[in-house]
Amino acid sequence: MRVVIVGAGLMGLLTAYFLNKRGAEVVVIDRQYSSGRETSFANGAMLHASQASPWNAPGVLYNVLRSIGKEDSALLVRIREVPGLVRWGAEFVSNSDPKRYAHNLNRNARLAQYSLQVMQELRRAEELHYDFSARGTMTIYSGQRELDISASNHSANSSDDTPFEVLDPRATALLEPALSRIAERIVGSIYYPRDESGDAFKFCQCLQRVCENNGVEFAFGVQVKTLARNGREVSAVTTNSKQYLADKFVLAAGSYSSVLSRSAGLRVPVKPVKGYSITTSIGTWAKPPTIPVIDDKFHAAVCPLGDRLRVAGTAEFAGFDTTLTRSRISNLVRLLMSTYPEFEPHLDISTTERWAGLRPMTSTGVPLLGRTSISNLYLNTGHGHLGWTMAAGSGLAVAEEIIDGRSAFILDDYRLN
Ligand SMILES: Cc1cc2nc3c(=O)[nH]c(=O)nc-3n(C[C@H](O)[C@H](O)[C@H](O)COP(=O)(O)OP(=O)(O)OC[C@H]3O[C@@H](n4cnc5c(N)ncnc54)[C@H](O)[C@@H]3O)c2cc1C
Repeated sequence: MRVVIVGAGLMGLLTAYFLNKRGAEVVVIDRQYSSGRETSFANGAMLHASQASPWNAPGVLYNVLRSIGKEDSALLVRIREVPGLVRWGAEFVSNSDPKRYAHNLNRNARLAQYSLQVMQELRRAEELHYDFSARGTMTIYSGQRELDISASNHSANSSDDTPFEVLDPRATALLEPALSRIAERIVGSIYYPRDESGDAFKFCQCLQRVCENNGVEFAFGVQVKTLARNGREVSAVTTNSKQYLADKFVLAAGSYSSVLSRSAGLRVPVKPVKGYSITTSIGTWAKPPTIPVIDDKFHAAVCPLGDRLRVAGTAEFAGFDTTLTRSRISNLVRLLMSTYPEFEPHLDISTTERWAGLRPMTSTGVPLLGRTSISNLYLNTGHGHLGWTMAAGSGLAVAEEIIDGRSAFILDDYRLN
């Protein structure tokens, strides 16, 4: 069986890897010059099944309306984007209904937990160097009410078997001594020992090499134009150079999946949600942190990655624009300094890397996986803020469904309706 995959980000690569392992002839097409160069490039680096909640929690409409025009809010909607968001936005808000939200959280939690298992198996099978760490993740709180709500939400969610520990400020600083300086201004933290972290781009580069060695063909620097239809099937992927024919096709083009699917007459409700990161060397800092720390108030995280620190966060509905906004970058630098004041003398801002990427977000907050109404077209897209966390499980399940018609992790709850 020949399968053509559009997109060499985390989703495309992992689907390619598992398809190849199951004997398929695989071609991966991407407009970039190697894998992982768009949203999978410099994300927050956490594989955090603990954060499986969709962003459209009950009350999201109020938060979105409050944010309009406010440059420093965690969730920002650019006014010019509002017309293009009407239908998707209505669906996004309707999914914040408490029952739907709970169902969507359940779907994400199951996939995220499965994915962490698949990732462990993958690490046993292949030599992958990506600054992997299994130190868990931690969310710090400056308000007692917020901490109590988060802890009780975790306890109440029966599908979420992610273990967690509520820590007071002293216990927080004992576990992560780099937080000692700020322990008195937080009320405590929640620690999730099963979460992992690692550099998604390094992972992509390693997995690309494994795939190439195993015979996967990569067509880089190729811009996909359309998915050409012939009746109930996709007949070819047309590009700026040539047509690619196959028995089956996988759309894993991140936020651009919605644009490309339209050419095949399919509506894939995925919108880009822009986020930013900075990556800086630990430099001469003798006692750097070892656990990724999410600041609940600022919705941003600081993640240790080998001898570097990555700070990531913010969510902007700004279309497909990936230009770097100075104030957003400054916010991340400020968050880094306020979390770890003693890092200040070691920070070299001139070598700090800045980045913006587009989270592919569905209106439910749950990814779209597996077969579609077009008989030979499969989706692996729409993972939003959880793409690194869910990538391995999604890739395996989609590959199994393509080869065997069904997957061990059942995809019925993740299909495009
Ligand atoms: C700031 C930020 C922080 C994040 N932090 C985390 C985190 O801590 N944990 C977590 O789990 N997730 C996180 N995410 C989300 C995660 O990074 C994404 O969900 C994931 O990278 C999406 O992978 P993808 O393969 O779907 O998309 P991409 O990586 O964007 O891959 C899609 C590929 O398709 C290609 N493509 C698109 N259109 C075309 C075309 N027409 N022709 C040819 N090629 C095309 C692109 O070049 C690209 O390589 C974060 C995201 C952001 C932005």
